[in-house]
Amino acid sequence: MQKRTIPVEFEELKSSGTLPSPAGVGIQILEITRTDEFSADDMSHAIMSDSSLTGRILELANSADRAGQEPITTVSAALMRLGATTVRNLALAFSIISERDDAACKAFNYPQYWSGSLARAVAAKALSSHVRGVSAEEAYVAGLLAEVGVLALATVHSEQYAKVLLETRGMPMSAALSAENEVFNIDRATIAYCMMLDWGLPVGFAEAVENFNLERLFSEGEGRLGSLSDLLRFADAISSAMLLTATTPSRRIKEVGDQLALLQQVLGYTDKETQELFSAVSTEWRHWGERLDIATYEVSFKSVLGGIARGRQAFEKEQSLPAGGGLRCESVVAENIVTTEDVVEDGREFGAEKIKVLAVDDEPVALRLLVTTLRTQGFDVTFAKNGSEAMKVAMREGPDIIVADQEMPEMSGLELTRALRRSKRGSSMYIVLLTGAREEDLLVEAFESGVDDFVQKPFDAQFLTARLRAGMRIVGLQRRIEEDRRTILRQLADKNNFNRRLQTLSLTDLLTEVPNRRHAMERIEAEWKSSTRSGSQFSVIMIDIDKFKGVNDGFGHDVGDAVLKATAQAIKATLRGEDQVARFGGEEFLIIARGARVAEATDLAERVRVVVEENVVEAEGFCGCVSLSLGVASVEQGYASASEMMRAADQAVYQAKTLGRNQVCTARGDLLRVEVDPEHRKTA
Ligand code: GH3
Ligand code: MG
Ligand code: MG
Ligand code: MG
Repeated sequence: MQKRTIPVEFEELKSSGTLPSPAGVGIQILEITRTDEFSADDMSHAIMSDSSLTGRILELANSADRAGQEPITTVSAALMRLGATTVRNLALAFSIISERDDAACKAFNYPQYWSGSLARAVAAKALSSHVRGVSAEEAYVAGLLAEVGVLALATVHSEQYAKVLLETRGMPMSAALSAENEVFNIDRATIAYCMMLDWGLPVGFAEAVENFNLERLFSEGEGRLGSLSDLLRFADAISSAMLLTATTPSRRIKEVGDQLALLQQVLGYTDKETQELFSAVSTEWRHWGERLDIATYEVSFKSVLGGIARGRQAFEKEQSLPAGGGLRCESVVAENIVTTEDVVEDGREFGAEKIKVLAVDDEPVALRLLVTTLRTQGFDVTFAKNGSEAMKVAMREGPDIIVADQEMPEMSGLELTRALRRSKRGSSMYIVLLTGAREEDLLVEAFESGVDDFVQKPFDAQFLTARLRAGMRIVGLQRRIEEDRRTILRQLADKNNFNRRLQTLSLTDLLTEVPNRRHAMERIEAEWKSSTRSGSQFSVIMIDIDKFKGVNDGFGHDVGDAVLKATAQAIKATLRGEDQVARFGGEEFLIIARGARVAEATDLAERVRVVVEENVVEAEGFCGCVSLSLGVASVEQGYASASEMMRAADQAVYQAKTLGRNQVCTARGDLLRVEVDPEHRKTA
């Protein structure tokens, strides 16, 4: 399997610095495993430095579908059992989840995205034994990251993407993909593919994820479970079924129902076995949701079946209405949109810029006092009873300010600060530590760990508020900077997009859709320079259609245009990857053949001549072929400049015309004529 080239649009997304990405240990692991010969030892050390990551990997390696195997307790045992690559990919996926930023795109329902992704991961894992060559852990990673392209667009182009999501809501997947291409020049499928490669996942893996994004549904009757992308499709049906809501379009519900029925048939499961699969998946979903701090809920197979039955009924009703049910919704993601109504229902206010404060203290009385004080001051307050709970809440809620007690069992305020500062989200929060009277000697260490300010306990309400006001100024500044940064990035992306389109337009011939004369001249100058610098070879083939006026005069200008188009495409199809054809003038084309010497270029010209001569063009009453006169010139022949070489090619075309047309002539001082089979020497 060959890696494709990474498109420049992806590089731009990446350079925005806001793509979902691994953090902390995840980055370290990416670095260690950049090459194929990484040391498994280095990697296991990196993983072990993060105890929660270690725990998650071990837990997955020991989970139920590996029952009967000896439980493993160390990272190196996990490496032995699962293989270094799998462990690495798991570590990356977990690290991406823990670094998630759920606030970037206001129109995107992040909790639902992650719930759905986790359900798909767990379902993919449960189904993995039915696909040869896919391990449970691989399936899990694939399920988790399958829709990362959507996440990327929502995060990088938050506002613009919100519009795209709303506009394509309820439409087929293909409409969503083309809208993305229209606006961003790239779509979720390509982005997912590039991100997978960027994280060092195997090409086959990236392609499976890409395919899944391109085609969410099986066409009728072709259901199978033969590949990773099929596996993802079925896992997605299970996850969608678990996440059905009152607003899911009935057509989508019907599709999910159909796909589940197909899955049951493919697996040869009875209703009871299907139900067991379902409840195993939903139990694991809840379990992992808790471990990864992703929202899940109780879901029974019965209620899912009921939901599907109701959806089907509604769908049929819509179908029987004369104008109803026009749109297809193949995308679960389309449901991830938060509408204004949802927002109001949620009670969240996106517009109002209330400062969010997280209060942390292990003593209930002190915590209550702190929370009351802060609420009285008009802050939007959440709270946590210890350091590790605070860490979770901070990652989920993204508070602007954290007021934390220093002295707490398990994780102190200082340790909490250090942990927060290691993560991308936590690095910009304003942290105030509440210290006891005797903890002054802690100050230097605390500032070094990233604490922004101190207030001594017991605190005076007015004093605390005054300090927080100072913090608010900084938070406000940071917010403005972050907003500006996003605006600038968006403008930059828009500008690049626009410029690139302009550039493509200005370098492309509109009729034939091949590069135009300007583009060709630029290329020739570039080739000429590189050839004088490094001695590289290249040739040009000038082409003129024979008796083209006759086509115009006999059949009209539109037919003439169609012939030009067809001829350009026929020439293009004959070329190797490194050759390029351009429309050079009215009915003249030019081929730039990189690396080709005279002999090769002459062969190529002859091939093109034969192809076009035999290429039947049909257009509005016309059905026939045209022939070409071609002139070859090559750097090898020692011209003084690019334009002299072009002149020589032009003269060779003229020579071909005078010798009877439909033939190739090669320039070489005396213009060497290439013999053509007399059969082919008829004119158009
Ligand atoms: P030959 O080259 O074999 O000597 O004969 P020719 O008939 O091709 O001669 P010439 O180069 O003089 O004519 C080229 C014609 O191509 C003239 C012009 O009307 C036609 N032409 C140029 N551009 C276009 C175009 O964009 N569309 C159409 N339909 N015709 C075009
Ligand atoms: Mg305490
Ligand atoms: Mg001409
Ligand atoms: Mg001509």
